[in-house]
Amino acid sequence: MSWTVGQFAETIATGRARYAGNISNWGREPEHNRSVGGHRDSQHLMDLAVDMWFHNSLNAALAFDFYKRQGLWVKFIRDDKLSIHVQVLDPSTRDPDL
Ligand SMILES: [Zn+2]
Repeated sequence: MSWTVGQFAETIATGRARYAGNISNWGREPEHNRSVGGHRDSQHLMDLAVDMWFHNSLNAALAFDFYKRQGLWVKFIRDDKLSIHVQVLDPSTRDPDL
């Protein structure tokens, strides 16, 4: 599936509301992306990636599974399992762009 920003945003908003998530990072302009160590082809540059955090690990895990079922690619950002990065493309051919 090829995602538009609108479809991606709708899906992100649905999961955010259902599992009480908080968006901490969405679109980035290139200079900020560089300053936070983002991949040069990061999907944050195209508004097709978000970072979210949750108050507890159960909600984070449920949101993780929800987004995977929608066909998005998801990764826990930190070891505490409270934050996830969600993007449209599977980055298996290169490093994930967090
Ligand atoms: Zn990210």
